[in-house]
Amino acid sequence: MIRVATSFLTKPALFVFAGIAIALATTGVTVVSLYEMRSDAMTQARDAAQNLVISLQKETERNLDIYQLAMREVETSIETPSIYRLPQDVRQLVAFSTASNAKELGALFATDAAGNLILDSRSVPPRKINVSERDYFQVQQQKTDAGLYLSKPFLPRAGDREQPQIALSRRLEDKEGRFAGIVAGTLRLDYFRRLFEDSILGQHGTITLLRTDGTVLMRQPYRKDDIGSSLAGGHSFPPLVQSDHGTYVDIAVLDHVERLYSFRRTGSYPLVVVVGFATEDIYAGWRKRATAISIVTLILDVLFIMLSLMFSGQLRKRLAMDRRLQRLAWFDSLTGLPNRAQLQRDALRVLTDAGRDSSSFATLFIDLDRFKRINDTQGHAAGDEVLSAIASRLRDHVRGEDVIGRLGGDEFLAILQNCDALGATHIAGRILQAVDQPIVINSKHDTSLTISASIGISLYPHDGEDSDTLLRNADMAMYQAKSAGRNQVRFYAPEYERQAREHLELEIALQRALKAGALSVVYQPKVDVTGALHGAEALVRWSNDKQGFIPPDRFIAIAEESGLIAEVDAWVLGEACRQLAEWRAGGIDVPNISVNVCAADFKRPDYPAFIARTLQAHGLDPEDLILEMTERVLFDESADDIRPSLDAIHALGIALSIDDFGTGYSSLSYLHRFPIKELKIDKSFVREIGVDAMAQSLAQAVLNIGNVLKLTVVAEGVETQSQRDFLSDHGCHLYQGYLFSPPLPPEDFVLWIQAHRQRTYTRGPTSAHNWMESRSAQVS
Ligand code: C2E
Ligand code: MG
Ligand code: MG
Repeated sequence: MIRVATSFLTKPALFVFAGIAIALATTGVTVVSLYEMRSDAMTQARDAAQNLVISLQKETERNLDIYQLAMREVETSIETPSIYRLPQDVRQLVAFSTASNAKELGALFATDAAGNLILDSRSVPPRKINVSERDYFQVQQQKTDAGLYLSKPFLPRAGDREQPQIALSRRLEDKEGRFAGIVAGTLRLDYFRRLFEDSILGQHGTITLLRTDGTVLMRQPYRKDDIGSSLAGGHSFPPLVQSDHGTYVDIAVLDHVERLYSFRRTGSYPLVVVVGFATEDIYAGWRKRATAISIVTLILDVLFIMLSLMFSGQLRKRLAMDRRLQRLAWFDSLTGLPNRAQLQRDALRVLTDAGRDSSSFATLFIDLDRFKRINDTQGHAAGDEVLSAIASRLRDHVRGEDVIGRLGGDEFLAILQNCDALGATHIAGRILQAVDQPIVINSKHDTSLTISASIGISLYPHDGEDSDTLLRNADMAMYQAKSAGRNQVRFYAPEYERQAREHLELEIALQRALKAGALSVVYQPKVDVTGALHGAEALVRWSNDKQGFIPPDRFIAIAEESGLIAEVDAWVLGEACRQLAEWRAGGIDVPNISVNVCAADFKRPDYPAFIARTLQAHGLDPEDLILEMTERVLFDESADDIRPSLDAIHALGIALSIDDFGTGYSSLSYLHRFPIKELKIDKSFVREIGVDAMAQSLAQAVLNIGNVLKLTVVAEGVETQSQRDFLSDHGCHLYQGYLFSPPLPPEDFVLWIQAHRQRTYTRGPTSAHNWMESRSAQVS
């Protein structure tokens, strides 16, 4: 029952149906009731008509009986021979002894065979009237078996000539059976008129007195012209004479009004009384009530339907809101994919199924490569479009039973049911391919972008038996895919866990080292072709008790990931500046100092101010400092974000150098977009000089670019004389590398300078010095 109720509440359409059903039911009940009321009205009218017709018929019959009785009395008196011996007035008295009751109806009389009155209830002697012309005389004269004849209406010759009458006649015969005259009685139709007038008929009701041949004797309402007219041709006439009573509905011949007719034959007389109630009158009351009831029903119906529509609308809105909330709670609004919370529920379900069926499944951690760059360079709207496009591709590339969702940012998760390593490899490969297709960005005037993804996979139950472990391991594998160069798939391996743990341990140790002042800085000289010192690069060093010496390449990467790098770099900068100031104070001339910086540094809003403060604190000038950054800084991170810092630093007069030039991105446009002063050829090219023609050409190309753009070109990792010669032959300005010196702790650096100075002096000035002079003139 409760389920029925709740399911009802979740289906707004049911409210509308219910409303319509109630309205229909109400209408149905009303229609049936109205129909019954109408039938009742008709039944009542029928009863009333029948009652009225019976009473009228009785009354008529009674009077006609009286009349007939009186006529027989006259007949008897005529047929009694002894009566002729009595004087006329006595004869009259005898003949009309019983006629006193009938007198008010009209006059009684008898005639001889010629139609002359021989007895007259009106006068003694009888009026001198001959009725041989009348139908009631002629019928009796001609027919021996006419019995009691009822005449057609006629107007009297004397008296009230406007009062139509009828006459009843009987035949008189002599002893031989020959026609001897008639006994007749005239009947003023006015009598019937009065009789009918007292009846209540309604507005259009009628009472009609007919002869059985259809001649109208009286009609209520009274119209003179109706008297004597005939209904015999009318279609409704036959039923009137076929039986002696009945009821039917018909349209009147005389006035075309539809009526309920009830008729009755008057005893043995050839007369029919017909009462007609107009159906209009019968239904008048009903019609009024029906109209009122219909209006009320209609209003109720409209009300019901409106209420149900309102309810269903309200409910629909609420359900839509609920659904929206549900979606918000469980689905990612941008991509429509399940969100982290929903993924957790799905994972739990898949886990339960797999546990029950002892099947395996794969968890794929999918992370887009360098997505942040799209967001930063193309804007967030474009980023959103990319995410949506990728989401729909991912959805297309998993099977129906699989789960695909968005963990957040550019991270997606797929759970592939009943899937082993082979199946997972296959699907992951397809996903990589699908992601790698160009994406058209509408918000950017249909520009097209491509992006790749890195996928890490963990398998149940092999790589974990709960969803958290599987997710973590897939994440770790994804991280490995990124480290291996992105756009790759990696399965989880237990060693990743060890690496990750070490990673974390290093991070913690580095943090401690920073606090404990356990980092140090070494310095590597930058020299020109003559070997003269042009500056030094500060390189950070970290040794700890547990791991010993840790190469910067390793811990710098960790510091960058954990965000510690800004702190490390700030410390190195301070230390390098302090050292430079100290050397100078000690009379050791180091022209300038280069420090390595990364994107995170530039993102500190106070970075330029911090540098200025540091220089000032140690009494140094902006020309004393060069900042080295890799191309990655300008590309991997948002150029717009760091541009203000770069400009501010440039404005301070601090030189910017591109480190490891040639290993990053091929676009050279940034070289003039940013205030760069120096290029450092990466040691990988230098190493290949004389070994790999291609790398050598690249080194040469970098030198050319530097010269064209009037930038100082520094070669790093110069280890051999031949490398240096090649570079100098192709216009390299400065050199750095083991050929001259490895990076040295400060005290060794001082020793190197002292030894070096002697070496340089003994060798004497070279053409390179001259080049540097002309070069600095060019740059300024
Ligand atoms: P880098 O800036 O390109 O530094 C030059 C690297 O080449 C240094 O490695 C240096 O020891 C090495 N090197 C110098 N001469 C030779 C040579 O002749 N042959 C070979 N094979 N190598 C040579 P290092 O000190 O291990 O630093 C590695 C990288 O770590 C640096 O590359 C730099 O990018 C980064 N780094 C070092 N110190 C810092 C720092 O304080 N802050 C930041 N952000 N990065 C740093
Ligand atoms: Mg460097
Ligand atoms: Mg370098």
